[in-house]
Amino acid sequence: MPSLIAHIAVPLAGRALLGPEAIPRRVLVAGLVLCALPDLDVIAFRFGIPYASPWGHRGFTHSIAFGLVVALVCWWMLRPARPSRFTETATATYLVACAVSHGLLDGLTNGGLGSALWWPLSDDRWFAPFRPIQVSPIGHAFFSSRGLAVIRSEAIWIGLPALAISLIGLAVRRRLTERRPEDAT
Ligand SMILES: [Zn+2]
Repeated sequence: MPSLIAHIAVPLAGRALLGPEAIPRRVLVAGLVLCALPDLDVIAFRFGIPYASPWGHRGFTHSIAFGLVVALVCWWMLRPARPSRFTETATATYLVACAVSHGLLDGLTNGGLGSALWWPLSDDRWFAPFRPIQVSPIGHAFFSSRGLAVIRSEAIWIGLPALAISLIGLAVRRRLTERRPEDAT
């Protein structure tokens, strides 16, 4: 997996892109939980479930189907009291992106098994054709020279795009805010 820090870049960048009005703090918190949730499946190792099993690490919790279900449950629970079509759509899109991004980012790493992205249609593990992200060691091994290589590759392949998306979002929203008084006249 990429590290947890890399996974949370997705909800942070998504909020910077869409803005705090569309993504209030409670939706951000849900996005942070959703992007990390799939890796709770490491508990499968404790129960002797093989890595390659659909119930093992990077198994069903890393699928698009699982991401859609947990995101839509969160969306239903977080629906604003006075929803507009924009906030409802933005919230749903944001939560789905946060949840599904996990399996996709894991598929960009260069180690372990791929994500069971298409479960339950297929138990096959998916890897992207291009896998530039160093796989993150599980547990204390993260704090090692290998951990530094992971941070470097994540900064390049996840951090920089997330930063670019955030800055574009901030710039566009600032532009729109500056234009609003003109629109009113
Ligand atoms: Zn994972």
